[in-house]
Order: sequence, then structure tokens, then C-alpha cells
Amino acid sequence: MLLIDQHVAHERILFERFRASTTANPPARQALLLPETLDLTPAQSAAFERVRPELEAAGFDVLELSGRTVAVSAVPAELPPGDARALLLEILDAAGSSQGRASLDAVREEIAASLACRAAIKINMRLTDEKMRWLLDGLLVAENPWTCPHGRPVILRFTVRDIERQFQRPEGFRKA
Ligand SMILES: [Zn+2]
Repeated sequence: MLLIDQHVAHERILFERFRASTTANPPARQALLLPETLDLTPAQSAAFERVRPELEAAGFDVLELSGRTVAVSAVPAELPPGDARALLLEILDAAGSSQGRASLDAVREEIAASLACRAAIKINMRLTDEKMRWLLDGLLVAENPWTCPHGRPVILRFTVRDIERQFQRPEGFRKA
């Protein structure tokens, strides 16, 4: 019996898709009705300059206004728009704390992981049969269906013997 965590399963599928997106092949975007303006700290502003191409490849449209103020005019289509501000600050703070040591590949992975976590279906959301099947199909073709981008397990596997042991059944009771 396989027990699958729907949130991390979806997170893994989205992560692999976001990670593969590039400036030449960006994911679908949604324009925000009202651009979200952010006043960055000097550290966040420096991080923004560095990771800007990665943000654009991930589906963000960010314009520099005056000083350290930026405006987000579009976000990846799958991101809940209300999460744009928090996610962007999270990415800039993570990129800033790595002080340029993290390669752009690492930054891209970080962006893809943060995006995937926020866009993934929630753990307590009730899924239709079709949606469950869609999730399993996506997981089966994932490069690594076993763990989420942060290393948590997606699938728990129980053998018949594991279940029998939990019920404190003695070995071989099935024959009796
Ligand atoms: Zn998550």
C-alpha cells in the first residue's frame, strides 16, 4: 500500500516544471490588476539586481520604480496572486543571505521550490477522483517522485507485513 501526501506530490511535479523554465521558455504568467509595489531594503535591492533574470525566467515581471521601490506587474500563472509579495521577499532574503555564494542554478532551484510550495494544492483540500488520477500520472513521470524539493518524503510504502505488525498479528497468521 502506498500512502501519498497530495501537497508534496504536487509540489514535486510543479518544482520540476518550474525548474525547467527559462527566459526563452517561460511559464504562463498572469498580469496583476494592480501592480504590487515593494520597498526593498538595501540588501534586498542588491539581491534583486542579482537574481532578476532568474525571476523573469520564472514568470515574474518586475519594474524598477524610483530608489529601491519595485513594482510587480505579473506573476507565474499558478501562483495565488495574494502570495506574490511574501514569495518575492522570501526569495530576495534567501538570495541576499547567501551573499553571492549561491550559484544562479541554486537560486533558480530555490525560486522553483518556493513557487511550487505556494502553488501546490493544500494538504486538507478534498480532491476529485480525476484530480487524484492526474496527480498520480504527473508523479509517475517525475524525475524523482519520492521526495519534495526539500527532501521530505512524498510516498510512504507499507507492505502487508508492516500492516500486520501494526495490528500485532503474528507472522504467517494469514494461513490460519
Ligand atoms: Zn510545501
